[in-house]
Amino acid sequence: MHPYEHLLSGPHARIDLDAYVANLASLLDLAPPGAELMAVVKADGYGHGMVVLAHAAEQSGVRWLGVARIAEGLLLRREGVRASILVIGPPNLSELRVAVENELALTIGSWTHIDAVRAVASATSRPVRVHLKIDTGMHRYGVMPEEAAAAARALADAPNVVLAGLMTHFAASDELDPAPTIEQQRRFIEACAAVEATGLQPRYRHTANSAAVLAGLANGSDIVRCGIATYGLSPSPEVPVDARFKPVMSLHAVVTRRFTLPRGDGVSYNLTYRAQADEEAAAVSIGYADGLSRLVSNQGWFVVRGQRAPILGRVCMDQTIVRSPKEAQVGDVVTVVGARADGAMTLDDIAEMTGTNVYELATRLMARVPRLYVRGGEIIAWEHLLLGERDLGPYASQP
Ligand SMILES: *Cc1c(COP(=O)(O)O)cnc(C)c1O
Repeated sequence: MHPYEHLLSGPHARIDLDAYVANLASLLDLAPPGAELMAVVKADGYGHGMVVLAHAAEQSGVRWLGVARIAEGLLLRREGVRASILVIGPPNLSELRVAVENELALTIGSWTHIDAVRAVASATSRPVRVHLKIDTGMHRYGVMPEEAAAAARALADAPNVVLAGLMTHFAASDELDPAPTIEQQRRFIEACAAVEATGLQPRYRHTANSAAVLAGLANGSDIVRCGIATYGLSPSPEVPVDARFKPVMSLHAVVTRRFTLPRGDGVSYNLTYRAQADEEAAAVSIGYADGLSRLVSNQGWFVVRGQRAPILGRVCMDQTIVRSPKEAQVGDVVTVVGARADGAMTLDDIAEMTGTNVYELATRLMARVPRLYVRGGEIIAWEHLLLGERDLGPYASQP
């Protein structure tokens, strides 16, 4: 493998492939008997790196991969991923043909999309696999339940179109109250029955996301479309992952300066923190342009030499200052985000401090932060998106 050691002397993310594969297995355990798992790797694997994770999921036996955009599916095909790929969001109409040529299954949830997919299918000899999205209450994408039967027929009757599934998406499965989800399930079952009454029997019906699986609301979903929990993250504080799940990503950076902050002096932009006494401090090579929210200024902490090091003052674009253990030195690798067991800030902590969710935080990791993929304690692959450099090790596509 190309050397990666130099990447350890700056900000970097470690991606724990063993945790990822174990999380996939736990989700399959929690899913209804016989259900197939779709590992949702959209948005570059929620910031974790979609190419390597898609390969790892495929190798562990996962049947389905979920992406939001056709371009994301194309990338996986280019990288040699063979599993079934569903574009779970509204597909870009100008890319339908290339999606079909690359055997990406499409989610179709509007009459515009129905017409477009019929047109593309009539101009090809390949089967065009589609899943009809029914809007049972999220009111984002999908045909209304009353239209489902007609929409299903319009798809199934078109030459080369294979209506492979019926699906819907829950709006509130990450909340304590199951009532909205149960109502969506009821509308979905009714719409499926209307489709079946026209003589159609699509192979799949699917509803569940991570939260629905964790909350026991995945009944009747023969594919479970799981993203956030595969990364070991909780959909919400109300619907957490259980103790089996482990966070896949940890974020690290390096001490670039050790110094004493003189009593009475402020630190970082606008001097929002002032030292009450002489304080040991360290500057660390990570900032909000790496993906660390500026809203953790004066609230968050890193782990330096195994000890909690509170953030002093504002997080800058590229650097952050923390109170430092005495023994810390320039060059020390610190943990910025990690597991609670290591005393590190978790994405849950940051979500609470900053008023957002872990989905947004994970996907905020920037291209200049290289990723190191770890399996069995060894770094087996890495990528640096900004430089366009990588070594995917066992996951490199064979030419
Ligand atoms: C993103 C997405 C998912 C995955 O949701 P998680 O909460 O991350 O498990 C499932 N289905 C659809 C339609 C999505 O857009």
